[in-house]
Amino acid sequence: MKQSKMFIPTLREVPNDAESKSHQLLLKAGMIKQIASGVYSYLPIAKRVLNNIEAIVREEMEAIDGVEILMPALQPSELWQESGRWPSYGAELMRMTDRHGREFALGPTHEEIITSLVRDELKSYKKLPVTLFQIQNKFRDEKRPRFGLLRGREFIMKDAYSFHATEESLDATYQDMYQAYSNIYNRVGLKFRPVIADSGAIGGSHTHEFMALAEIGEDTIAYTDGSDYAANIEKAEVLYTPNVQHTAEAALEKIHTPGVKTAQQLADLLGKRLDEIVKSMIVKVDDRFVMFLIRGHHELNDVKVKSFFGTEVVEMATEAEIEGIMNAKPGSLGPVGVDKIDIYADHSVQDINNLAVGANETDYHYINANLGRDFQIKAFGDFRFILEGEQAADGSGPVKFAEGIEVGQVFKLGTKYSEAMKATFLDEQGKAQPMIMGCYGIGVSRTLSAVIEQHHDDNGIIWPKAITPFDIHIISVNPKQDAQRTLADQLYTDFSKNYQVLYDDRQERAGVKFNDADLIGVPLRIVVGKQAADGIVEVKLRGTGESFEVPVNELTAKIETLYQDLA
Ligand code: ATP
Ligand code: MG
Repeated sequence: MKQSKMFIPTLREVPNDAESKSHQLLLKAGMIKQIASGVYSYLPIAKRVLNNIEAIVREEMEAIDGVEILMPALQPSELWQESGRWPSYGAELMRMTDRHGREFALGPTHEEIITSLVRDELKSYKKLPVTLFQIQNKFRDEKRPRFGLLRGREFIMKDAYSFHATEESLDATYQDMYQAYSNIYNRVGLKFRPVIADSGAIGGSHTHEFMALAEIGEDTIAYTDGSDYAANIEKAEVLYTPNVQHTAEAALEKIHTPGVKTAQQLADLLGKRLDEIVKSMIVKVDDRFVMFLIRGHHELNDVKVKSFFGTEVVEMATEAEIEGIMNAKPGSLGPVGVDKIDIYADHSVQDINNLAVGANETDYHYINANLGRDFQIKAFGDFRFILEGEQAADGSGPVKFAEGIEVGQVFKLGTKYSEAMKATFLDEQGKAQPMIMGCYGIGVSRTLSAVIEQHHDDNGIIWPKAITPFDIHIISVNPKQDAQRTLADQLYTDFSKNYQVLYDDRQERAGVKFNDADLIGVPLRIVVGKQAADGIVEVKLRGTGESFEVPVNELTAKIETLYQDLA
């Protein structure tokens, strides 16, 4: 394609609010344009890369017998009422009303639509299993759209759904998907890790997220070098091995602690270490309040709390709620004398005694509070985030942390939707059974951004060969010079037969063209400059910066070899 006819509005400066490298480069390379917060147009370069990613996704889905369909983005509320998610999905669901007063949503995901489709059409075990997928724009009114395409409010997703008569059949498809996802991320050039993930309290049996490794990533992965263990830290289990450090029990004593609001301040005041302090927190679980005790250096993990109580609704109590129940401010809470609410504690709280805790009286704490004597615990559990260096759940060694971008997730849904929405099939005995389901998502636009996050330098993007928008970028340095223009035109025609070629034929300064070429990131570059008259061009590799002077009669062979060797 001729660059003079393309629409690539590159920028010299990027808007200040572009925080991630990929967001900056997408804007600078003229690939996207923001229309509203979290809503973007994809310009030609981005569209070409998306097409390439989507082609890989399609190939891998079809290789495991996935069948492509396209469902409506506009979804009637009735189906969401059936699944029970109309009230529970919350503010992320973009809701609207049509002219007849009927309620609709713009699809954030398609379990409801697909379940209604399949229940009406597939009624016998003989027609199962089936895997259907689509590539489509999804809508989520994210609280904090950010990082450009990484967290948009309208974004492109590949979503697949599988329907089964047996658990074994679901297991097999889940494995196929897991492998297909690994293939996809390898092929698009991402360094990634599949991690054990949280399945939410409901429906949840088994799920993995695929994390592209990147510092900007909003998720933290706990992994070890000793095995392929990796988990989202939300989910990373803490192996509790008792490490009891008790001293002789001392008398409970209330002390005045004016201004002490945090565990660190209390530790400082008492001359103790942070891990010798026990923090008390009030959490709202569904409609009731409970207290959690956690060591000072640990953080409460709300995902673990949710799964412990089997609910999605867990929130930290507000200051007003805390004062209402405890008659004290958040910085002065503790378990002593608490009888109105249940108290839960992380396992590691058992390891220490003579605890310093809040006295449930603003500006007072107790020292030497002891379990059994001064307060009771309803249950101990794994309620906290793992720390770097603690033993991995599979015992393979200390965990390390890395940041990741969730580019996909595979999920065993079970019968959550099929039961709620009465999607049944007749088994071999002619008995109606709920279909067993899996669902599998890939953030296509997020993947595009994640690739840029991993493949760039200070000057711009460096596309992996498999998804590059063009293979070769031909630059005519000065098209006003006949020899240069004629040769560049010729090379454009010739190479277009076997490669995707972008031809910079613009009447622009050479510096502008080179800057743009670096930004856009096409892996192979042919520069037709002053030596055109002598039949010599420069070939440059975007990735390594290496360049070669090549006589035109050797150019085809040289490009062929370089192309072969591209990553
Ligand atoms: P997140 O935790 O990042 O909000 P999610 O777990 O809610 O994502 P899923 O419902 O698993 O997302 O959706 C499947 C895939 O769609 C995700 O793995 C991610 O790659 C992509 N995705 C989800 N939300 C967005 C978004 N707001 N913008 C771009 N891609 C997204
Ligand atoms: Mg997810």
